[in-house]
Amino acid sequence: AVKATQVHKAFGSLHVLKGVDLTVETGTVTVILGPSGSGKSTLLRLINQLETLTGGRIEVDGEMIGYKEVTRNGQTVLQTLDDKDIARQRAKLGMVFQKFNLFPHMTALENVMEAPVHVAHMPKDKARNEAIEELNRVGMGERLNYYPMQLSGGQQQRVAIARALAMHPDIMLFDEPTSALDPELVGEVLNVMRSLAQAGMTMICVTHEIGFAREVADQIVFMDGGVVVEKGGPEIIDNPKEPRFKDFLNHVL
Ligand code: ATP
Ligand code: MG
Repeated sequence: AVKATQVHKAFGSLHVLKGVDLTVETGTVTVILGPSGSGKSTLLRLINQLETLTGGRIEVDGEMIGYKEVTRNGQTVLQTLDDKDIARQRAKLGMVFQKFNLFPHMTALENVMEAPVHVAHMPKDKARNEAIEELNRVGMGERLNYYPMQLSGGQQQRVAIARALAMHPDIMLFDEPTSALDPELVGEVLNVMRSLAQAGMTMICVTHEIGFAREVADQIVFMDGGVVVEKGGPEIIDNPKEPRFKDFLNHVL
């Protein structure tokens, strides 16, 4: 589970997140909707510790990320975790970005094996077997030895998903994984995400794919201006209450 409590983030004088509360239960899918600049990517990057909090707290599986509470002179204060603890926490999360970010000089298989071998120090044979399994899972088993430039955008994005899965994350974060794709390639990536959801993966997805949200999400979160304006089950897409959410849906639908 992921629990964000009164999360604030500022970049200098720009206050981007202004008290975000969010709970994502284990085994469920949350879709975050919201206009450009509302802070969706910033929230995902905070959960994955690619940014540091300005205020509030985030817990992953009950453990605060980035900090621990220590008692000093009878007072509880927050102390920054060391790199090893941060790496351990980050290993629970897999993230997929809008841009596929594959290593261009490595094949699909090598891309997926990279982190297990060089970060998790897995023996190469085991890493190769698992990478083939993950590539099969995303329907890329026939393209193991292709280089990214030989693959379509949708195929590259599926390799990127396999690469994240190869580290056995408990939670997957998706930041507009289909918005850089040609329309005819969106479906194959959404299908992979749908099958992950059906397999019980805990997922937080930023996407404008309303059909996917309606069908796959357990929870919809609409953000605007750095706050959560409305959240609820997928039914809120067809019955939004807040004017800003109505407006947004009128523009994307
Ligand atoms: P989009 O739909 O366009 O991806 P978003 O909801 O993901 O938008 P964010 O990327 O979280 O929005 O950005 C929210 C605000 O924070 C924007 O005004 C952006 O310019 C600003 N911002 C994000 N990252 C940084 C940064 N590293 N330094 C300064 N400002 C930043
Ligand atoms: Mg974004």
